[in-house]
Amino acid sequence: MAGTKFAYVRNFELPDPLLPDTYLVCRLDGHSFHRFSDEHGFAKPNDERALQLMDHAAKSAMIEFKDIMLAFGESDEFSFLFRKSTNLYNRRHSKILTTLTSYFTSCYVLNWSQYFPDTPLRYPPSFDGRIIVYPTERAIRDYFSWRQADTARQRKAHINNLYNTTFWALIQKGGQTTTEAHATLRGTVSATKHEILFSRFGINYNEISQRFKKGSVIVRENVVPESSDKGESLEPPMRLTRSEINQARDESPERSGASDPPTNIPPHSQSM
Ligand code: ATP
Ligand code: ATP
Ligand code: MG
Ligand code: MG
Ligand code: MG
Ligand code: MG
Ligand code: MG
Repeated sequence: MAGTKFAYVRNFELPDPLLPDTYLVCRLDGHSFHRFSDEHGFAKPNDERALQLMDHAAKSAMIEFKDIMLAFGESDEFSFLFRKSTNLYNRRHSKILTTLTSYFTSCYVLNWSQYFPDTPLRYPPSFDGRIIVYPTERAIRDYFSWRQADTARQRKAHINNLYNTTFWALIQKGGQTTTEAHATLRGTVSATKHEILFSRFGINYNEISQRFKKGSVIVRENVVPESSDKGESLEPPMRLTRSEINQARDESPERSGASDPPTNIPPHSQSM
């Protein structure tokens, strides 16, 4: 029988289970979105439609994958937090990662025209994905703080956004070249950039949508402990609650320096 003769190749497929009883974070990131955003006319530095489309795809993913408790997005990326006790696909690494990544990508494409009615897709966008396993709630908090905070390496939504906003205002509204805009901003402190934005372009940076500065959070509400068949060893409910996130926003309006270690969860909360 053909099945018998060839079946041994199946043994080359190795199991790839994720460590049990740990938080799973899946982070998706748009592939070459620098180019994708250029070719599709995204407003710089932050296109609201594009961010809403990302949120839409993330919400759809959370509806499909019930064990995702929270998601954080900014720019072309989204991070999804799975509950510790998830047994999705028996915690098979590639199965979870590829299914979530392709589902998110499909939702992004499916809903594209709703957010970009006048911009046809010129080519299929794709997202890369990875899963990171974290043992503690502390690490999870730090993970989301890390994604929210800017890093020197990546231009992210929060810290460097003041620079980006001023940079693009100088170019798009002020008629400067990129070289001139860089020169204008070289060595300036935050207050000076605020002043440039306000006095020259009438932009009050503090009124710019919070999501531009700190990203977007989607929380699954009414988290209840999972019931186990034997009625024992329940996982305690997550303490990353919506109110805590809002409180973090109230207490931490804006971060001005990289030396200030982030402790808050991003503020742009949406309930499911
Ligand atoms: P890679 O494939 O390595 O991720 P990339 O070009 O996607 O490369 P990122 O570091 O992920 O690089 O940065 C994403 C880029 O996409 C941003 O720098 C920005 O140019 C663009 N971008 C993403 N979202 C938006 C948005 N909402 N509005 C405007 N531009 C955006
Ligand atoms: P899983 O998520 O585990 O892959 P599945 O439902 O996709 O579950 P598969 O073993 O992959 O199960 O089988 C794919 C099924 O999809 C087939 O059994 C068949 O019912 C259906 N299917 C796939 N391609 C076609 C096709 N071209 N025409 C008709 N049915 C198809
Ligand atoms: Mg990437
Ligand atoms: Mg990218
Ligand atoms: Mg990115
Ligand atoms: Mg199949
Ligand atoms: Mg199948």
